[in-house]
Amino acid sequence: MFALSLSRLLLQALPKKPATPRAAAQCIRSLTTSQQESLKKDDTPTNMENPYKSPPKTCILCNITVDFKNVQLLSQFISPHTGRIYGRHITGLCGRKQKEVSKAIKKARSMGFMSVTLKDPQFIKDPDICGIKHFE
Ligand SMILES: [Zn+2]
Repeated sequence: MFALSLSRLLLQALPKKPATPRAAAQCIRSLTTSQQESLKKDDTPTNMENPYKSPPKTCILCNITVDFKNVQLLSQFISPHTGRIYGRHITGLCGRKQKEVSKAIKKARSMGFMSVTLKDPQFIKDPDICGIKHFE
């Protein structure tokens, strides 16, 4: 009852001819509406994607299948001087792919596709995937 009388008072205080009758109706509604109706307005918060979310971390082999017959790829992950398999801290691979690579290298060596002690000289000039700086 109080809200209604207040809106009447407000209507009297308003100029006789409002810009549109709808605007006046909205003004009254804003005084009398409950909380639930005000939530239905367009300025309510909406669920949106986090703009600060970092992209998922992927290593260089995450989308590549590691095959033991792909000797040229596998030779990137062994040392040219000692023939040892580089560790994860050097290659930067994820744990799953590092394990796959080391398993594939061991399999290729046992099958005779790769040399055990040295890197094949024909793959020495291949691009350095791991970014290792060797001493000259
Ligand atoms: Zn990976």
